[in-house]
Amino acid sequence: MITTSRIKSLVTFAVYAALLLTQAGFSQDLTSKFSADKMRERVKKISSDEFEGRGPGSKGAGLATQYIADQLKAAGVTPGNGSSYFQNVPLVGVKADPMSYLRVERSGQPGKLYKFGDDFVAFSGAQSAKSDVNAELVFVGYGIDAPMYNWNDYKGPAEDYKGKVLMMLVNDPPATSSEPNLFGGKALTYYGRWTYKFEEAARRGAAGVILVHTTESAGYGWNVVRTSNGSWRYDIARTPGDKSPFLQFKGWATNEASSAILVQAGLNLDELRAKAARRDFQPVKTGVNVMLDLSSEIKRLNSPNVVGVLKGSDPKMSSEFVVYSAHWDHFGIGEPAANGDKIYNGAYDNASGVAAVLGIADVLAKIALKDRPKRSTLFLFTTGEEQGLLGAEYYSRHPLVPLAKTAADVNLDGVNIFGKVSDFVALGADRSSIIDQILEAANERHLTIGGDKNSDKGFFYRSDHFPFAKVGVPSVNFQHGDTFTPPLKGDAATFFRDYTAKYYHQVTDEYHDWWDASAMVQEAELALAIGVKLANVKEMPRFKSTDEFYSADKKRLGGR
Ligand SMILES: [Zn+2]
Repeated sequence: MITTSRIKSLVTFAVYAALLLTQAGFSQDLTSKFSADKMRERVKKISSDEFEGRGPGSKGAGLATQYIADQLKAAGVTPGNGSSYFQNVPLVGVKADPMSYLRVERSGQPGKLYKFGDDFVAFSGAQSAKSDVNAELVFVGYGIDAPMYNWNDYKGPAEDYKGKVLMMLVNDPPATSSEPNLFGGKALTYYGRWTYKFEEAARRGAAGVILVHTTESAGYGWNVVRTSNGSWRYDIARTPGDKSPFLQFKGWATNEASSAILVQAGLNLDELRAKAARRDFQPVKTGVNVMLDLSSEIKRLNSPNVVGVLKGSDPKMSSEFVVYSAHWDHFGIGEPAANGDKIYNGAYDNASGVAAVLGIADVLAKIALKDRPKRSTLFLFTTGEEQGLLGAEYYSRHPLVPLAKTAADVNLDGVNIFGKVSDFVALGADRSSIIDQILEAANERHLTIGGDKNSDKGFFYRSDHFPFAKVGVPSVNFQHGDTFTPPLKGDAATFFRDYTAKYYHQVTDEYHDWWDASAMVQEAELALAIGVKLANVKEMPRFKSTDEFYSADKKRLGGR
């Protein structure tokens, strides 16, 4: 006869076995749950000409975001913003008049004109149709004020910068033999990013900024700067009460044009560049005036983040969320290429990421609630990433679940379409405890997690996980490595080798039938496994106390 205590222990064992099974189930390979055909179908659809390169505010963008919401609904994912799958992000688009000229004049000498597109590009930071600037040019080196590195280019009184046009170099000051770890050594810090340069100059009350472009320091050619700044540029719309500082214009100039402008002032760019690399650099009042009469088309629009939610299984922990994010936007229809093609399809960047996150949603939604990971899952497809991480920035300021209840963000931007790999890169993960769950999931699959091989490019600051980090949420930009198994050949090898030079932000970033959907599934499956471990780990993930985002982490958790 089976005694009650016997029954009790049997029941406990059964429950425990089921739990193990589900947990084991989760740490087991879930590849078979994914549909490679569905993955291919989605990446093809999202990057199709029908969606017109998904420029925010365009008809194609409307079709794309509705498609994503429909796919979430069909998968059984519930709306993430009340009863809506959409979180509207108020944007302002500015498009500079390409006939604009930059005029530089030194008193008593003939002025010189610089042509938009060829010599410089600029867009309004004032979100207004007219931005007229006529001010002295001040060369401020790298334009950085970094107490943690005891470095400040903004020496002297604030008046030296207020209302002026500031010319500065991009990237970080170079490390030296005596200071090999200056500004993170080879790795780019946020101080080296063009976004920081504009933000810091605005804080100084400057009227405008001219960043000096070199392919080496920017990490991409003038064609990329020209494309992304010569067309519509968006920003989060300023609300009437918004007192945050802004620039009349944000600009770039070629190295040649920058050099010519400084020659007008009797200065030499290369000499200034050498001085700027020293901590004792002194900003230079050039004595020349920059006049920019910038007329811009303005448009105001709402462009949605698409958001879905799947509830977790644990009564308590399901109030906490793991976020999967991928931006749906790209450059839309822009400057035509030599062959006349003007649709920037953004297939690798980032139709692939959207398809991968939809695949993850499919798999999780098919699991019965009681067997799901403990924490809930939020799927966030952001707008405006190409315009400066705008959708993610807006979400981080207007989160749909409390930041204190947001365990982590796993961001996918450029999912592997080339061929399976044995290594992945978890950008930013080593800044927090989430690295543990990532390594665990990778080890189970005999995959390696490599370091950032392009730390000099500052990729950590260049996708949607970064706004999450800025508000203290541990986040990772999860990306495939380059140890392809077997090695790539043919079109895949060419596309991968030439991506930055010939495909990145160009009309050529298009879907091809040779794309390997099983490689996409490999990456999506690993990202899912990581997210599940983050959804089940007992303690909420935290930034390491030594990291620059630890203070924001403490702040979101009320100082804990
Ligand atoms: Zn991208």
